[in-house]
Amino acid sequence: MINKEKWWFEEKNDFKFIKFSHFEKYPEFNYFITTRLAGKSSGQLNSFNLGFQEYDNPENVIANRKSLAEYHNIQFESLIFLRQTHSNNIKIVDSSDKAKGLLSKADAIQDTDGYILTKPGICPVVMTADCVPIILFDPVKKIAGVFHAGWRGTLKLIAQKGLKIMKEDYNSDPLNILVSIGPSIGPCCYEIGNEVVDEVKKIFPDNFNELLIKKKNNKTHLDLWATNKLQLLQEGVNEKNIIICNECTYHNPETFFSYRYAKGITGRMGTGIFFK
Ligand SMILES: [Zn+2]
Repeated sequence: MINKEKWWFEEKNDFKFIKFSHFEKYPEFNYFITTRLAGKSSGQLNSFNLGFQEYDNPENVIANRKSLAEYHNIQFESLIFLRQTHSNNIKIVDSSDKAKGLLSKADAIQDTDGYILTKPGICPVVMTADCVPIILFDPVKKIAGVFHAGWRGTLKLIAQKGLKIMKEDYNSDPLNILVSIGPSIGPCCYEIGNEVVDEVKKIFPDNFNELLIKKKNNKTHLDLWATNKLQLLQEGVNEKNIIICNECTYHNPETFFSYRYAKGITGRMGTGIFFK
C-alpha cells in the first residue's frame, strides 16, 4: 500500500517530516507535516508537541514551534493557529492573522478548522492527533488550503468546501489541484459507532460500501482517507493528483501522536502551508 515514490519521511537533525513528491516541483510552495520526534515535551507528550495541551508546559510548545519555523525557514511570527472545533468553518487568511494563537490559545482564530491561503509570508497550521490533515495546492493560481478533518469534519465535507472556495472564489481548475492526505488513524483501526455509520450512509448513499469496513466482530471501521478523497473526486479533482500517505497514527505511536492510542493524553502534530 505504501508508495515511497509518492511520499517519504525527511529525516534531518533528529526531526522527521512527511514530504510529497508532487509538491517538489514548486519551490515557491513550502509545507510541512510533522511527526512527534525531536521536540522538548516529555512524558506522554514526548516530544514534538505543537499544541497548548493542559498536560504540557507552554514553554515547551513555544520552543517546539520555534524549531519548526527555523527548520523550514519560516519566520516564527508567520505561524497562525486555530481553536479547532470539528466544524467546517474555513478562514481565508492574510497578514493581519500573523501570529494568531502563536503564544497562547486565547488569541487563536476561533471555531475554525481550515484555511485558504493566497498570500506569501504567512503560515497557517492545523493540528491533528488521529484526525486527517489535508493539503490542497493549485500551482497555476498559487492558492492553497489546509484542513483538519476528523470524522465530523470529514462528514461535514470540509475538504470539499475548501475546494469549492478555491474553484468559485479564485477560479481554480480542480484538474490542476494537487492533494496530499497526511497520516491519521487508518481504516485498519478506526472503529466507529452506529450513529456515524448511519451518517456515512446518508451522506454517501452511492459509495458507503467503499468507505465502511465490516469487521468480523460485527464492528464497523471508517476509511477517513477514502472519504476525503471521494469528496474531492466528486468536485472534479483528478485521482492521479491525490496522494494518501497511508500511515496510521494508532498503529505507529512511536512516530505519531494518536489521541485514541494514548486515551486522550497526547500531543498534537502540525500541518502547515506557506508561499515564499
Ligand atoms: Zn491502524
